[in-house]
Amino acid sequence: MKQVDIVVIGAGSLGAMALWQLGHRSDLRVLGIERYGPVNRHGSYAGESRLFRTAVKEGRIFNDLADRSVGLWQDLEERTGRSIRLPCGALSIGPPDIAPMAATARVIDEFGIPHRMLDERQLRDEYPQFAIDAGDIGILDIRGGALRPEVAVFSALQVAEEHGVDMWYGTEVVDIAPEETGVVVTTGTTTVRADRVIVTAGSWTTELLPELAGLIDVRPIGLTWAMPTDIARYTPEYLPVFLRDRVEPDGSIVHWFGTPTLDGYSIKIGLYPERWDVVSAVSDVPKAYTEERLDEIGPRLVECMPGLMGAPVRASVHHDGYTGNAVPVVERFGGGRVIVAAGLSGNGFKFAPAYGLMLAQLAIGDESDLLRPEFAADRHPERGPVAG
Ligand SMILES: Cc1cc2nc3c(=O)[nH]c(=O)nc-3n(C[C@H](O)[C@H](O)[C@H](O)COP(=O)(O)OP(=O)(O)OC[C@H]3O[C@@H](n4cnc5c(N)ncnc54)[C@H](O)[C@@H]3O)c2cc1C
Repeated sequence: MKQVDIVVIGAGSLGAMALWQLGHRSDLRVLGIERYGPVNRHGSYAGESRLFRTAVKEGRIFNDLADRSVGLWQDLEERTGRSIRLPCGALSIGPPDIAPMAATARVIDEFGIPHRMLDERQLRDEYPQFAIDAGDIGILDIRGGALRPEVAVFSALQVAEEHGVDMWYGTEVVDIAPEETGVVVTTGTTTVRADRVIVTAGSWTTELLPELAGLIDVRPIGLTWAMPTDIARYTPEYLPVFLRDRVEPDGSIVHWFGTPTLDGYSIKIGLYPERWDVVSAVSDVPKAYTEERLDEIGPRLVECMPGLMGAPVRASVHHDGYTGNAVPVVERFGGGRVIVAAGLSGNGFKFAPAYGLMLAQLAIGDESDLLRPEFAADRHPERGPVAG
């Protein structure tokens, strides 16, 4: 039976970053096992771009991860000579008193995050791409921007392999069995024994670790792209990544998010919340939007940015694992030999290199200054049964 020090199961967002970090340790035999190819359309990172923010309204527990990720993304760019992070800023727009805007302002104050505040007039002058309402403000997170997830995952894997990490692609892990002296990992064709195992299997995690099934469910997330009549004002020089919140007449908050153009003709712009049902497995995630849904979404995108032509020009459906409180689970099983990070809850890519560093530290030395008590499995609420 093949024997290694550390196996990483799932070489997607977090797994690729953990493998990159483990590659620094030439004294360790490290093996990555990935069901698909080195970069693919199945992982939760697929879809051309991800938003990167350092003013993280989702909670102060993410602040260290955000800070550390800035340097790590830069490090990966320098090592590979590739552009992974577009430093165009992240702009939040909305009324100052609604929860997401107030939370963004609070973390900025608390952690001294580099930013710019814009009043309604400045927003209208500087960002004419948006429909601005009376009383809206803007908060520009200066270190924010867009990430290219496929380029990032590929780059991390490439550096890992250059440093001697062994990769098995096209290989599915079907079982993980912790024993007293190691962990036996079984694939469709062979078994490997490792000292430690890191599980970064994303939305598939509960298929390998059913003990987490009560805490994590799988949710579809759709992406849409629309075309402006004049692309010139929608390039990263003029348009940051954006989060735009507006209060509807019934008091609910509608949220748009998006990126400047990366393809030269369209911008990514999405609407949240969307009407997707929680599914019981990745295999149940819808493969595409319905035509009816795209027809409904088009006019809503124009409400946010009047310079867009209505109908989306591109659309795709992806998925992520969600926990009940949108905080990821980072937990150790099997006497500490199996370390899992899952349930990134639609918010994990921006911090992927910091999670990768955390996982590598936990696998090598049992400790990480990036680990928070809130990540422990017993700090998460149980999920209800999934319908359908
Ligand atoms: C549409 C969309 C938009 C998003 N937008 C943002 C954003 O703007 N900013 C942000 O920060 N986050 C965003 N997220 C969230 C972020 O992309 C995810 O949280 C993150 O990619 C999850 O990473 P992961 O490593 O857990 O999963 P993945 O990247 O999916 O990696 C899991 C890997 O494990 C492999 N695998 C699974 N099971 C097995 C097995 N049995 N054997 C071998 N390999 C296996 C899979 O093939 C996959 O490669 C978004 C997510 C989606 C879907």
